[in-house]
Amino acid sequence: MVVGTVLRSHAGGYLVYLSEKDITLQCQARGRLKKERVSILTGDRVELADLDFDQQTGLITGCLPRWSLLSRPQIANVDQVVIVQAVRQPEWNQLWCDRYIVHFQLELPDCTPVLCFNKCDLVDQEIALTLRRVYESLGYRVLMVSARTGSGIEELSTMLENKITVFAGPSGVGKSSLLNALEPSLNLKIGVMDNEYGVGRHTTTYSEIYRVKRAGGPAWVADTPGFNLAELRHPEPVDVMWQFPEVINLSSDCRFSNCLHLVETGCNVIEKVVELDICEAYDGSQVPPPLVSRQRYDNYVTIVNEAQQEQSLLRETSTKKESSVKQVGGRKGKAVSIPRLSGRYRAESRRTQKQRLDAGITSEDEDLNEDDQE
Ligand code: GDP
Ligand code: ZN
Repeated sequence: MVVGTVLRSHAGGYLVYLSEKDITLQCQARGRLKKERVSILTGDRVELADLDFDQQTGLITGCLPRWSLLSRPQIANVDQVVIVQAVRQPEWNQLWCDRYIVHFQLELPDCTPVLCFNKCDLVDQEIALTLRRVYESLGYRVLMVSARTGSGIEELSTMLENKITVFAGPSGVGKSSLLNALEPSLNLKIGVMDNEYGVGRHTTTYSEIYRVKRAGGPAWVADTPGFNLAELRHPEPVDVMWQFPEVINLSSDCRFSNCLHLVETGCNVIEKVVELDICEAYDGSQVPPPLVSRQRYDNYVTIVNEAQQEQSLLRETSTKKESSVKQVGGRKGKAVSIPRLSGRYRAESRRTQKQRLDAGITSEDEDLNEDDQE
């Protein structure tokens, strides 16, 4: 069985890389796969037949099971996400950093995101060290790099070997520059800035993986666009809490059960929020600290509030949906929901018509009866 990796969709088919031959083939999916609606995505491992190396074509006959799936953009078999941010230009924004972390932890719960701070040539060591300390204390791997000077690029490159890695982050932070530094032959366009979120150059539905040549084995990387708020995952408020290790670390001591640690007087998490210089709370020891910094806590509250707003919006729309159904038949708990039809469109079955005529009740009465049971 010959197995290749889908690099992207192309002309109604797919570009598939075959490592044994170091060749990229244009492949169509076998008709049966289309009929069975088997989706084939960038990153998928596919079985190939009818290989023609002169024409560089092949036929996809099957898709192997996926071990992970990123939803925006859709990429299968992602091994790790590198969240790229600039320490300056654009100015580092910790709220967006934390939003990206929450989003990708929820997207791919089995892989802890790696934080990559780019443009380190623009700040002094002290600032870079602070960022490193804060996030290493929380258990994240942190890389300080500069696509411009090349510092840190070798460390980044090594961790990509034999993996599919997604580079995520707003545009303008230097993702394309980093990919070019890792593999100059990619020659990606750089320096195209978009709106305030750094969103837009390509869409969240476009996906492609590129190969970075490494001695220890090929590395696959994807450049992805930035997200705006609406495109991020909308978790349950309590799920947000689980993405903040220092909040979780303290919440077992909270005297309230089901506490989101937002406003309650006497909540011990809120009591442990500190106004200290961030370095004093987070010493880089790779253990969540017994304190929560004001900045991280504020971001936690913001993201929980966003999740709560999302929830109440959802509840509103589902109440609207509910009122379009009504409960009929049976005693309490046994009633079934049926769509509420407006009287005008309601066709009466012969049987109900007969029953109604037999019992001598009107259609209107019947409606009232059913509503009474709601
Ligand atoms: P992307 O939108 O995330 O792909 O970012 P680009 O790679 O297009 O880079 C955006 C801008 O940042 C460009 O003007 C780059 O030259 C610049 N840039 C990228 N990396 C660095 C770096 O390490 N240091 C500095 N000073 N500028 C960088
Ligand atoms: Zn609490």
